[in-house]
Amino acid sequence: MASPQSIGYKGLIYKIAVPSPLRRVFDYLPQDSAKHLDPGTRVQIPFGKRKIVGFIIGEADHSELKLSRLKCINAVLDEEPLFPQEIFNLLLWCSNYYQHPIGEVLSAAIPGKLRSARPLHLKKMFWRISKKVNSKIIEQLTRAPKQKALIELLLPSEGLSKQTILDQGFTQVVINSLQEKNFVESFEQQDPQTITTKPLPKTNLKALSLNNEQAAALDAIRKTENKFECFLIDGITGSGKTEVYMQAMQDQLNADKQCLVLVPEISLTPQTVERFAERFDCQIVSLHSGLTDNERLASWTSARDGSARIVIGTRSAIFTPLSKPGIIIVDEEHDSSFKQQEGFRYSARDIAVMRGREERVPVILGSATPSLESLHNTELNKFSYLSLSERAGGASTATMTILDTAETILDAGFSDQLLFKINQHLSANNQVLVFINRRGFAPILNCLSCGWIAECKDCIAQMTVHTKPPSMRCHHCGNSQRLHSICPNCRSPELSTLGAGTQKLEQFLQQRFTSFPVMRIDRDSTRSKKKFESMLDKIRTGDPCVLLGTQILAKGHHFPAVTLVAIVDADSGLFSPDFRGQEFMAQTITQVAGRAGRAERPGEVIVQSRHASHRILKLLSGSNYIDLAKLLLEERKIAAMPPYAHLALIKADGPQLKATIDLLKQIKSFSTQLILQSESTIHSIGPMPAPMEKKAGRYRSQLLFKATSKPIMQRFLTQLVCQIESLKVATGVKWSLDVDPQEMI
Ligand code: ADP
Ligand code: ZN
Ligand code: ZN
Repeated sequence: MASPQSIGYKGLIYKIAVPSPLRRVFDYLPQDSAKHLDPGTRVQIPFGKRKIVGFIIGEADHSELKLSRLKCINAVLDEEPLFPQEIFNLLLWCSNYYQHPIGEVLSAAIPGKLRSARPLHLKKMFWRISKKVNSKIIEQLTRAPKQKALIELLLPSEGLSKQTILDQGFTQVVINSLQEKNFVESFEQQDPQTITTKPLPKTNLKALSLNNEQAAALDAIRKTENKFECFLIDGITGSGKTEVYMQAMQDQLNADKQCLVLVPEISLTPQTVERFAERFDCQIVSLHSGLTDNERLASWTSARDGSARIVIGTRSAIFTPLSKPGIIIVDEEHDSSFKQQEGFRYSARDIAVMRGREERVPVILGSATPSLESLHNTELNKFSYLSLSERAGGASTATMTILDTAETILDAGFSDQLLFKINQHLSANNQVLVFINRRGFAPILNCLSCGWIAECKDCIAQMTVHTKPPSMRCHHCGNSQRLHSICPNCRSPELSTLGAGTQKLEQFLQQRFTSFPVMRIDRDSTRSKKKFESMLDKIRTGDPCVLLGTQILAKGHHFPAVTLVAIVDADSGLFSPDFRGQEFMAQTITQVAGRAGRAERPGEVIVQSRHASHRILKLLSGSNYIDLAKLLLEERKIAAMPPYAHLALIKADGPQLKATIDLLKQIKSFSTQLILQSESTIHSIGPMPAPMEKKAGRYRSQLLFKATSKPIMQRFLTQLVCQIESLKVATGVKWSLDVDPQEMI
């Protein structure tokens, strides 16, 4: 029998990845006279009836396809690969680890503009005087004064861009007439404006003198001498983590290197960028979802060519190529926004560590509430642990009290004691922060006569009542409906709301504390950036007011005039069905509490709970997140859950539940065989309907895998995914894989 090689094509072919869900690469012939193409170069290729952009992944000296079936690369789009070797390797690793098609991974790692056949650097058209031009010729032009003027404009320059010429009042007709006479000629050049760099001062005059713990942290980072090492800075809010980051960054800038800083959400924490801009006199670019495509491309290119010295961005910025990488910093490393929840589901924090290893640079993860994963890595000595346990600049930490509300009648969620405290702080000219983890007016609308409850037609979930503007909204799929005034089931007008969200609390507090403004800060009220900014400005004046809001308040903002933080309800986190629920609650409460008493004014934190004696709350009130985290780690160990085990979640969704379960049953039978064959210790749980069984009109189910070793899990998933790919999936049903899932809903 002939080997496939002998019937295929012999000669140079390129392996090309395309942005599609197909987990494979395609063979293409080189262009006739093309130079050798390195991995990571973009090319345009014929694909079916279309022309698309693909990436060179590698090459081979033969193809299993016959010459007649092979197509040629149409065009080479990049003069050199878009990614340095290290980043390209990192992206290959990501594709393997997260089991996501390489074409989609590469595509996700570049700015949108480069996903089309656009060249990396747009060249601009310039005009210059041709050699032919001499003083005699200029003389002859006196009857064409515009042409003469243009020649005189171009004469002293080496060439001017077409735009500059037009801006000076010349028309294209004038340029054309001179070109016809061969007096001027055009040439293309990269716009010089995009490659300017700011010089960097070599000393850092504004650096603060560090306290002992900060100095020890900086020393440890310096000792790496720019080799890979990952540090976890466990530093309470206000302990001066950012100051340590900045001094470590200064070292790199002095050595002419670049710094990459990841933050959870730039739009909510613009002050981080401002602080860097105040400190460092060099080009700083940011990369986040609020940019236009052109802005994003400009930031990305200047990071890649080395002109931007500091790159600060959200999750996807972790893939930004740097020409001179020096250090990677992930601030608020515990934040769940570093995990991408759709499509290419990656963890930017975990990739940051891989990237540091690949590029041989130090990585700093910082948080006031480190994730259990990172703490565990310090126990394993994979990360070095650095602690900042005191507030820098002399501010005192807040005290925390748990207020037992088991026997208390609450008014819009508030006990009398809490209201008394709020009044006390406001009257003393201080600000009060009230935290509740739910936006809208109330989570439930029900009928007092027949018990009807407003539910989303597309999800198995209740509609949340909103009053601004009046409506019912599904927080899971975005459905919105007008607010019923009578029950659609029994026509009774006796509709009532249950539970409370930010809007209900806002209404209540406004009526209760009439002489103080109440500022509601949640996803609805901050949608307009301008409105959010004006609220922040008001808060910054330091005048007494109530800041009322959700999660957003826990993210990085400094509220120095706040002396009381009130957490209205801690109980939903205590009994969450999600195995990360308690960790998440502890992080949120600690982060929100960290907003109080940052300045000289001592702060206090009051947490209301009907389970005040719960051990988690007890530990939290000792302001000891780390002890609590250690306890939670113990529990995870006993339950064999992350970080002591590794999870992978296969999800299926479709128009009927049964079809999704059927698909997962097939996958489960594949997995059982694989596990038997390899005798590996992998457990599967399910298939079962997802905790949120129906969302946006689609039914969802899931199958969970658990393994104690990452390599075993990875090998298993690679084989499993290969088998799933060969399955014929029922129409309308989709499956996806989430490696190291954060959310199980
Ligand atoms: P974190 O990032 O841990 O929340 P920051 O770096 O923002 O802490 O520091 C909190 C406050 O303390 C800031 O106002 C900062 O200027 C100040 N600070 C930090 N380090 C020092 C220091 N060594 N001496 C005096 N003030 C400091
Ligand atoms: Zn009714
Ligand atoms: Zn819905």
